[in-house]
Amino acid sequence: MPERITESVLNAPSTVEGRHWERLDDGRFQCNVCPRFCRLHEGQRGPCFVRAAGPNGIVLTSYGRSSGFCVDPIEKKPLNHFLPGSPVLSFGTAGCNLTCKFCQNWDMSKSREMDTLADAASPETLVRAATGIGCRSVAFTYNDPVIFLEYAVDVAVACREAGIKRVAVSAGYVTPPARQEFFSEIDAVNIDLKAFTEDFYHSICGGHLEPVLETLLYLVHETPVWTEITTLLIPGENDSDEGLNNMRGWIAENLGPSVLLHFSAFHPDWKMPDHPPTPHATLIRARAIAQGHGLHNVYLGNVHDAEGSSTYCAGCGARLVERDWYQLGDWGLDAHGRCLKCGEEMAGVIDGPPGTWGRRRLPVRLKDFEPGGRKHNQPIDRSAALRTPTRRRTP
Ligand code: SF4
Repeated sequence: MPERITESVLNAPSTVEGRHWERLDDGRFQCNVCPRFCRLHEGQRGPCFVRAAGPNGIVLTSYGRSSGFCVDPIEKKPLNHFLPGSPVLSFGTAGCNLTCKFCQNWDMSKSREMDTLADAASPETLVRAATGIGCRSVAFTYNDPVIFLEYAVDVAVACREAGIKRVAVSAGYVTPPARQEFFSEIDAVNIDLKAFTEDFYHSICGGHLEPVLETLLYLVHETPVWTEITTLLIPGENDSDEGLNNMRGWIAENLGPSVLLHFSAFHPDWKMPDHPPTPHATLIRARAIAQGHGLHNVYLGNVHDAEGSSTYCAGCGARLVERDWYQLGDWGLDAHGRCLKCGEEMAGVIDGPPGTWGRRRLPVRLKDFEPGGRKHNQPIDRSAALRTPTRRRTP
């Protein structure tokens, strides 16, 4: 049964008209942002928590509100071939359109409290904070940004106008029209491919696999968005040799061998407290399966594994980027992103020397960058943000 919104939420400044919906003959409104296609009576919320039916159509109830801000290394999204070593201003809101039982961010994604959205965050203030701190990009992360599309697109446009890159972390569970609007303002994305069976998506995530695969095909073949993929390996659920082989085969055949695949370790959380953490050996096995059949760039995450975190040349096998957790070490690329040993171009977006942000995680008080805030008038360092990287992708 859908939850209801109160009159005060409906009239709040954070509630704005939504896009991608239609009015049905029976008077309900259908949200067309994600493949759930929720049909809502006036006053009802969708299961994503942030979209609801108002008197005149679907509204977004979390515009300009965030659950918090932090500067992270871009490798933490994870994006390993997009401006390596650079800092990214990360933020999220609340709610999610999937119901993954293993959610590792459940405090935000499953939130039903507007308190979670305590931080006001106008697009202009976000841009001011990113440029003031020297971030090369802003990331929509922690929860899926497609559900707050109207807000995310406004932030992304403001970032583009200021020369800040736009990064999304998403499950890719979005309809074609909403997908086109959202990703037209995104420079790089990590898509969370939860598993490679419909049964997993249906029984554990409350969704379907096919729309996610369609989003991956769309991103790689129809957009310039730099795309990487992450799969969280859960013992006994999505870590079989057969499943990993099927996933690897589909990616290689349909997206190409250069598309990055990250395997990350699960920690017991949310509705799966009894599942064990992913053994390191499982991650190593998954990487070997994926690499053994032609994927050039397979990484391990949420685990200390310098070899599985580093980048190797697809041509000669030389180490191109050394990583230890999120700390970069030796750098084997020239200024154009080519291997120093054999000249092979690395797939990705490389812009000169590596960044030096390291492993730091810096919480940010956005209030400081609002008009009247103590950092509002400080000089803005746009030099890092305004460099325009060349997009590269090997065939
Ligand atoms: S975004 Fe998805 S879950 Fe949320 S209201 Fe729209 S269709 Fe429903």
